[in-house]
Amino acid sequence: MTGMWRSGHVASLLTVMLSMTHKEMLSAATQMASEHVSGGRVRTVAVFTDKRNNVLSVAGNTYAKTHPQQASWARKRGSPDKQCLHAEIRAAIMLAKSWKTGKAKYLYIAAVSLSGNILCAKPCVVCQMMLDESFPDIEVFYTGAGKV
Ligand SMILES: [Zn+2]
Repeated sequence: MTGMWRSGHVASLLTVMLSMTHKEMLSAATQMASEHVSGGRVRTVAVFTDKRNNVLSVAGNTYAKTHPQQASWARKRGSPDKQCLHAEIRAAIMLAKSWKTGKAKYLYIAAVSLSGNILCAKPCVVCQMMLDESFPDIEVFYTGAGKV
């Protein structure tokens, strides 16, 4: 992990996130995204939770790093340019490593520009394919959609 967040702050945010509404979860993710250093224009944070909104994994995107799994999904989808690690795939990899993939019920994705504007964080085609295949029952909430 790169030094993305001050860990004490994240720990307190995660505690607060328990038993929150979808709207509150998304705004907590947005707060993290606004403090995330992605190394690029868009800062995205993805949070997987179980059905009670217990946080299972949190990850931010990074422009600095490619990842073999991101590259593999990107190739499969016919978008081999999308090799920089997206927050959703990074969080999914963390989930798989802790054997919690099956517990995931909700995914919250927040995107914030460098200047602090909230952006549409709808999963891109590559991430959407990963979600369809690995998390067929996941419910996704993202900023900029006007859904929550
Ligand atoms: Zn993506």
